[in-house]
Amino acid sequence: MIVILKSGATDEQIEHVIERIEQLGHSAHLSRGTHRTIIGVIGDEESLRSEPLKALPGVADVIPVLPPYKLVSREAHPDATIVHVGSVPVGGGYLAMIAGPCAVESEERMVRIARAVRRAGANILRGGAFKPRTSPYSFQGLGTKGLEFLRTAGDEAGMPVVTEATDPRLVETICRYADMLQVGARNMQNFVLLREVGQTDKPVLLKRGMSATVSEWLMSAEYIASQGNSQVILCERGIRGFDSATRNVFDVAAIPLARQLTHLPVIADPSHATGRPDLIPSCALAAMAAGADGVHVEVHDEPEQARSDGAQALLPDQYEELFQQMSRLAELYQRRIAGPGDSSGPV
Ligand code: PEP
Ligand code: MN
Repeated sequence: MIVILKSGATDEQIEHVIERIEQLGHSAHLSRGTHRTIIGVIGDEESLRSEPLKALPGVADVIPVLPPYKLVSREAHPDATIVHVGSVPVGGGYLAMIAGPCAVESEERMVRIARAVRRAGANILRGGAFKPRTSPYSFQGLGTKGLEFLRTAGDEAGMPVVTEATDPRLVETICRYADMLQVGARNMQNFVLLREVGQTDKPVLLKRGMSATVSEWLMSAEYIASQGNSQVILCERGIRGFDSATRNVFDVAAIPLARQLTHLPVIADPSHATGRPDLIPSCALAAMAAGADGVHVEVHDEPEQARSDGAQALLPDQYEELFQQMSRLAELYQRRIAGPGDSSGPV
């Protein structure tokens, strides 16, 4: 940590800052420049983070040297973490190809879509049973019935399943059905929910909040990891912009940036990022080229009948075509798409 003193800081004030740092069990290294004096604080930065050093007279600023997320930072853990979703490895060269409808609507449809996306190559099935909707009058999901249908579809198609947890009180129930828990954009800073999923033994798909900085997103991952669960996959899903031509602004740079900052896998969701089926394939490929550890796409067999997000759904055939293109890129980048039950051999 570096303490920058005001230009007019007096010797007494500087002495007082040094005393305070030493009282807190750290040592101080004073450096007097021509224009500014700074104090380098030596010791465990974490324990000083919550100390109001900036409130001391004569202090202009306090700058931490280390990122505030310790457990998930790449600095603390240089090797990529491989998260296991059921038997599917994700990260460290293995790609998560997540596909399925926005919401689980019926058992028959769920099984049909599951088979279609598995045939196309997807290795993880998605489907929302508890939907976080902007309007209380919109379809809220089938609830526990939806979890049952999703589980059945996953088993029929031989795929692990991911579904969203919108409420900490639902986590235990969802864990009985799902292989991975999703924390959606709207709940990225629901700290009670983050703690709750952090206490499970299920991997967590953590969407980036629609107005969250990359640092806030990583702090949310840190919340989960701080409870003992480091099986977290981050998902860039677009952030709020001013142009309604696309649903959100796909922040492609956040993918390589987050991958530099954390050892956790980082995937992309071009469906919610763009909200437009005509833009999803190019953004999915851009995400892969940017180093994403996977791509999450909404697929529906009858988008015009869909009870949520039908307008952004790809048809199974369109997904299959996109999957072929993504596989070619994966090969170029020496990434593997492990099928369920197939995690043999390093990449
Ligand atoms: C979803 O995955 O259907 C969803 C609601 O996503 P997000 O939280 O990214 O909006
Ligand atoms: Mn959706």
